[in-house]
Amino acid sequence: MKLPILMYHYVRPNSERMSERHNVLDFDLFGKQLDVMASKYEFILSNDLLNLDDDGSALKNKIWLTFDDGYRDCIDYVLPSLLKRKATGTFYIPTQAIFERKLLDVNKIHILLSGLVTPKEIVKLADQYFSEAGLEEILNITFNDLFAKFGVANLWNDRETEFIKKLFQKIIPTDIRKKYLASVFDQLVERSESSWVDELYLSPDDVQILVENGMEIGSHGHSHEWLAEMRIDDQRDELTKSFSHLDSAINDGKARSMCCPFGSYNDDTLTLLRNLNVKTGVLNRIETYARFEPGATDLLELDRIDIMFFDKFINGEFD
Ligand SMILES: [Zn+2]
Repeated sequence: MKLPILMYHYVRPNSERMSERHNVLDFDLFGKQLDVMASKYEFILSNDLLNLDDDGSALKNKIWLTFDDGYRDCIDYVLPSLLKRKATGTFYIPTQAIFERKLLDVNKIHILLSGLVTPKEIVKLADQYFSEAGLEEILNITFNDLFAKFGVANLWNDRETEFIKKLFQKIIPTDIRKKYLASVFDQLVERSESSWVDELYLSPDDVQILVENGMEIGSHGHSHEWLAEMRIDDQRDELTKSFSHLDSAINDGKARSMCCPFGSYNDDTLTLLRNLNVKTGVLNRIETYARFEPGATDLLELDRIDIMFFDKFINGEFD
């Protein structure tokens, strides 16, 4: 059986971008994509994948839309567009941002990268703080060596941008890197964290509105960290907190779907998710349909299609 599962992040009018470097899917283009999909497909949600008939006919001409990160875009732009076309989607939310109102490191990095200061200049400042905080001795590597190793351009990012993302989100131990990012962020960004939280994220009430309108909510972790980089106890803590927030907020027993931040997970993650009775999970493999066996007990590793490949998908290149 196969199913297209589409992966969206920021959806807003281009004019509402934080800056020219802020990657968003333009609201008008989103509407056009929905119109095309609505004419070809019926929209389903994760819960429709449980108890499927063996022949898989239930998935014929079906599509599942997913929206990551719990941005206000979901309520301001996505929900009205979906309702207009009688479409549905699953919203994967990082629970610490939404329910504890904390600005996540991933978004501090987006804000830095979307600001007036260029990625090159951010790297320069990061270099300066690196020496000042004595990180070369603590981590036993020079800043230049780190840059040479992790500053590698890819489909989405130039080398400085990719390096900033890795440096502040992944490649150095958590407590050091959180403080390090906070110093660079405070130096370059004047606005308070709480004003960013209100501007960026859905509120708990918005989550209720999504649910009341027939949308599905899933976990995008608690603090949006790389799960595969964490010890199992920290992963357990992260996942347990996230699902207990969802359980108390939604309370219909349905929020049992997972989207691992950055698509990062390992066998420990899968075991923990099974113990938490999580039924479905989506990945970031971005250029393929989800494929699975009828009656599979486990739907925790479903591939998605990144919306940047929408044209390829709709033209049948992934069939
Ligand atoms: Zn995310």
